[in-house]
Amino acid sequence: PALTNADIEKLCQKALSVIPDKVKYYAEIMGVTYGRITIRNQKTRWGSCSSKGNLNFNCLLMLMPDKVLDYVVVHELCHLKQMNHSKKFWKEVERYMPDYPNYKKWLNENGGALIERMLRR
Ligand SMILES: [Zn+2]
Repeated sequence: PALTNADIEKLCQKALSVIPDKVKYYAEIMGVTYGRITIRNQKTRWGSCSSKGNLNFNCLLMLMPDKVLDYVVVHELCHLKQMNHSKKFWKEVERYMPDYPNYKKWLNENGGALIERMLRR
C-alpha cells in the first residue's frame, strides 16, 4: 500500500530515535568521528556522507530489516575512511560487516518497491 504523509512523518520520527544511536555505536567500533546527522525522505538515496562528515539517512530505512539498516550505517561510516566505492572501501565494509553482500542484495531487490510506495502517496 502507498505510504501517507503521516506515515512518512512517523518513520522520520522513529528514525531520529533509532539511527543516531546506531551511528554512535558503529562509529565507536570503527574509530571514526562524524558531524551532523539528518533524516529525510528521499527518492534516490538510502544514505550519504558529505566531505565534512555530515551523514544523511532515508527515513524509509525504518521499513527495512534491522540488519539492512545496520549495513547502510556501516556503509556511510566507511565513507569517512574512503570517500569512494573503491576496493579499499568495500574491504572496510567487509571488515565490520562480513555478511554485507546479503544486505546490499536485499536493498537492490526490495529498495525500489519501498520508493514506489512513497511516490504513490
Ligand atoms: Zn556509498
